[in-house]
Amino acid sequence: MSEKTKENEAEATANGSPKPTSPNADLKHDFASFWNYSPAPESSDFVEIRKQYQHYIDGSFSVPAKKRYFKSINPATEEVLAEFAEGTSEDVDKAVKAARKAYDKVWSKLPARERGKYIYRIARMIQERARELAIIESMDGGKPIRESRDVDVPLAAAYFFYYAGWADKLDYAFPGRKAEPVGVCGQIIPWNFPLLMLAWKIAPALATGNTVVLKPAETTSLTALKFAEICMDAGLPAGVVNIVTGAGQTGAAIVDHPDINKIAFTGSTEVGKIIQKSLAGTDKKFTLELGGKGPNIIFEDASVDQAVEGIVNAIFFNQGHVCCAGSRLLVQEGIADKLIKKLKQRMETLIVGDPLDKNTDIGAINSKMQFNKINEYIEIGIKEGATIHQSNSSNLPDKGYFCKPTIFTGVAQSNRIVQEEIFGPVLTIQTFRTPEEAVEKANNTPYGLAGGIWTDKGSKIFKISQKLRSGVVWANTFNKFDPTSPFGGYKESGVGREGGLHGLYPYVNLK
Ligand code: ADP
Repeated sequence: MSEKTKENEAEATANGSPKPTSPNADLKHDFASFWNYSPAPESSDFVEIRKQYQHYIDGSFSVPAKKRYFKSINPATEEVLAEFAEGTSEDVDKAVKAARKAYDKVWSKLPARERGKYIYRIARMIQERARELAIIESMDGGKPIRESRDVDVPLAAAYFFYYAGWADKLDYAFPGRKAEPVGVCGQIIPWNFPLLMLAWKIAPALATGNTVVLKPAETTSLTALKFAEICMDAGLPAGVVNIVTGAGQTGAAIVDHPDINKIAFTGSTEVGKIIQKSLAGTDKKFTLELGGKGPNIIFEDASVDQAVEGIVNAIFFNQGHVCCAGSRLLVQEGIADKLIKKLKQRMETLIVGDPLDKNTDIGAINSKMQFNKINEYIEIGIKEGATIHQSNSSNLPDKGYFCKPTIFTGVAQSNRIVQEEIFGPVLTIQTFRTPEEAVEKANNTPYGLAGGIWTDKGSKIFKISQKLRSGVVWANTFNKFDPTSPFGGYKESGVGREGGLHGLYPYVNLK
């Protein structure tokens, strides 16, 4: 390890967040003053957030059986945002019974075009309440308003529109077969895209005639309960959608409930494995969308400036809280120095801070737990001998959980920071000489969710993407989503696909 790296290691602060490396301190003068914006916060004045929220069961808000609540905080201010009902197995049972009744008596009997009308109505109401939903998503989850406003909420509406369209066309989706709903679906979602993950789960389930019991993540329950209000306003029959809030035990109660026919889970590989074990030997259908360690491969013939933007989008925007993030950069040797220099310059211009500010690129880390985990991995990276660089610009706010964009060079394939999912704005950088070496390195982790290729040559895109063990491969772009396109993983990244026509399969029995 060089003397410089040792010095940097010594600079690590008490909270685990190392100081930036000194060799790049000059970058501060070049860029920081140039990118000084005045604050442009989105007002949250008109957003109504109640002190306490109940479960949404059988068409109305329902006090939890044990009358216990847990607090959810705004990760940017560390202030309590609201209290949510803690779901027990009694609450889950009540929700499943409501969903079963609605399935048997109403939803599965409704003509498909009528189901479609409800789903279209929900999609339109998400659009009407888009601003409110985006602000809440940023306050609750810490993500920049630009992202929740331009990505999360419009895409959530788009998934409802898309699956509303399929409701009365299932005979065309499965020609010559009869698609029947599976029944009551238990759905468990994570905190990185709360409303969007809800849409991915609920829209195809309803379109195919199922009813649902959904549990949002314990740190981001609010948009799911706003969605419950939308269901009520849309006149959705009682019990078709039920929302039970709580943490892991509530999720486990959903997984273990004997009257649930299908489980859809998005979250960590660790919990996915627990769920898969619980489901073994049952006849429940399931889809699991788990972790990732996405390779982002930059070839020498790529446009370097475009690639730098793509890298920033792939790992730094949304704090790296994306399971399909491009968290491993693989860059061809000939352009490595140039690209890394440009990337460092671009990092200086990234604004870390208030999620509600429209200029913010990187908001707050979702929870204290995740914040500590990211800092632990940064420490691990330093101990593994990698060279760290963090941006010099943007002073972090005094309160809240914020993390500077961080890159590690000088990493080995076997390093934990290369193999394990960090789920933060932390990028490892490796080089390669030949396409074969790029593919070998890209595939060499337990994950296989998403990846990116940057090159001028279309033929290279086709050749390499065929060889990547990855559910999604983006070419000359990254993190682009569309409701018509399936999404899901290889290896430890999961089982099954969501989105597109493929996303209908897990919700139907074909006769
Ligand atoms: P993340 O790393 O995204 O927080 P988790 O896997 O911890 O992922 O959480 C994803 C979702 O799974 C959350 O809604 C969480 O409450 C839920 N969950 C956690 N543990 C369990 C469990 N044992 N069974 C079912 N759901 C769980």
